[in-house]
Amino acid sequence: MPEPLLPLSRSPPPLPPLPPALCITIHDVAPSTWPLCECLIQTVCSVAPVPLTHLVVPAYHRLPVADDRGYRRQLDACLRRGDELALHGYVHLDEAPRATRWRDRYLREIFTRREGEFAALTREEASRRIALGLDWFQQRGWPVQGFVAPAWLLGAESWRAVRQFSFAYTSTAYRLHLLRARQVLAAPTMVYFSRNRTGRFLSQQRNDRLENRLEQAPLIRLALHPEDARHPVLMQNLQALLGRLLRRRIAMTKMDFVAHWRGQAACA
Ligand SMILES: [Zn+2]
Repeated sequence: MPEPLLPLSRSPPPLPPLPPALCITIHDVAPSTWPLCECLIQTVCSVAPVPLTHLVVPAYHRLPVADDRGYRRQLDACLRRGDELALHGYVHLDEAPRATRWRDRYLREIFTRREGEFAALTREEASRRIALGLDWFQQRGWPVQGFVAPAWLLGAESWRAVRQFSFAYTSTAYRLHLLRARQVLAAPTMVYFSRNRTGRFLSQQRNDRLENRLEQAPLIRLALHPEDARHPVLMQNLQALLGRLLRRRIAMTKMDFVAHWRGQAACA
């Protein structure tokens, strides 16, 4: 008996509604930080084997790298298990001339300790560093769709540089910018301030407040830094926080969130 003819579908089926999402990012991924990054990954995976976005720095702090073959194999394995690698600056050092305004000087030199590489670059220099980073990714055969400036500091000239490339997204401290769709989404971030005891205590309190206040938010980001892994109290807090968040949210990479969001917008 011949099979009944099905109507030809001219467009893909609509995506299901996007559940509240959680994007977990591991910042400052580099050979020198990898042991601490691994500790973060193990802590997260002890709660659930969720996909992660790794913010990779090609020449972190300009430290020499004798042999990165093991590190590369580890990141290859991350990609195979569904993680995402995004470009996180090139050297993660603010090497631009010193700021003259006190507010900028505080932000760049004290609050972010001269790590905001793209805070005050010219457009030409920002473009050059992004291009170097993309070449570095290409040499390793790693796909890259996202760019996140170190310390989330993106000066006006660097913004122009980022827009010259074909990234799907970039993110700042409070927002996710869908560059191709020219959309900006609120993307509150939970983060630990592991630098001192007061910061560690207050950031746990802040994360708890955000968790309660943002119960209905479509997207929450959880940003983890290698230094967090040095503090068992933070790792215990992370396990508990993650356990609660994953009861209500689906963890996905930032790229998957962007793709899903764009797909939904196209179907609306
Ligand atoms: Zn960073």
